[in-house]
Amino acid sequence: MADLGIPKNTIEILQKYNFSFQKKFGQNFLIDTHVLDKIVKYSNITKDDMVLEIGPGIGTMTQYLCENARKVVAVEIDEYLIPILGDTLKAYDNVEVINNDILKLDLNKLVQEKNDGKRIKVVANLPYYITTPIIMELLEKHVPVDCITVMVQKEVAERMQAGPRSKDYGALSLAVQYYSKPEVVANVPPNCFMPRPNVASSVIKLDLYEEPEVKVNNEEHLFKLIRASFNQRRKTLANGIKNFQGLNYSREEVVSALNNLGIREDVRGEALSLQEFAALSDELEKRRTNGNI
Ligand code: SAM
Repeated sequence: MADLGIPKNTIEILQKYNFSFQKKFGQNFLIDTHVLDKIVKYSNITKDDMVLEIGPGIGTMTQYLCENARKVVAVEIDEYLIPILGDTLKAYDNVEVINNDILKLDLNKLVQEKNDGKRIKVVANLPYYITTPIIMELLEKHVPVDCITVMVQKEVAERMQAGPRSKDYGALSLAVQYYSKPEVVANVPPNCFMPRPNVASSVIKLDLYEEPEVKVNNEEHLFKLIRASFNQRRKTLANGIKNFQGLNYSREEVVSALNNLGIREDVRGEALSLQEFAALSDELEKRRTNGNI
C-alpha cells in the first residue's frame, strides 16, 4: 500500500472514499514522513511490542506502527473510517481495528485480552479534545503501559513538562510527573497536517515509572488535594483546599499542616513541588486519622 505520509497518497484515498473531515472528532491527518519516522523512532517500538493507537484516521501512522511492532490495536470512533482502514491496512496481518470511543473502553481489560496483561506502548496523534482525559485515564487507572508517545497541542505539552512557579504548572503537570518522565521530542507546525490545525503541536513522550519516584500514602488523596489547590489559582492553598468537596479540611487544619512542614501559610499551589504536595497529603491525612485537629 502506498505510504500515506506522502500528501498525494492521502489526497487520493480521501477522494476515492469521498471522505469529509469531522471537526468534532479532531480530524487532522499527518502528511509528513519525517514526523512519522520521528514518532516511531522515539517510541522505541520493537517486534516484541503491542502498540495501542488511539484514532488511526485513514491509517497513516498505523502503517508505520505495523512495520515496526509485533501487534497494533487501533481504536477509531468514526465509523466512516473503518472501510478505509480495511483498504489502507490490507497488507498487514498484525493489526486489529476497533470501532469505538477510546474513552468508553476498559483499557485494563483491553490490555489483558490483547496482550495477556503485559505492558504495551501507546502511540497517537491525539484528537485534541480528549488529550487530558485519555492521558489521565491511562495514568490513574494504572493501565500496564511502558510509554506514551503522543502528538498534542504545543501548550499542553508545555503544561505537562512545567515545574513550580511557572504559569503552565498545574494539576496536569503534577499528575504526569508523578507517574512518568515527560520529554518533548518534536515540535510540529500546522503544515504537517491535513487539514491544517489552528495551533502548533508537539510530540511528547511519557516514560512511565514502574514505581512512582515520589512516595505518598494515598494517591487518591494526593490528587484530590492537587485539584483543590489549583481549583482557584489566585487563592492561597489553604483557602483553595478549605471545604473542597471530597476533602473537607478546615482552613486551620491546612495552615497547621503547612506550619508543621515549614511551609508559609499564604503559599499558593503553584509554588509547591510534587514532593511538597506528597508531604502535605500525608501530613493532612495523618492528622485526620489521629484526630489531631
Ligand atoms: N492517526 C491519524 C493521523 O495521524 O493521521 C489521525 C489523527 S486525528 C488527529 C485523530 C483521530 O482520532 C481521528 O481519526 C478521529 O476520528 C479519532 N478520534 C476522535 N475521537 C476519538 C475517540 N474518542 N476515540 C477514538 N478515536 C477518536
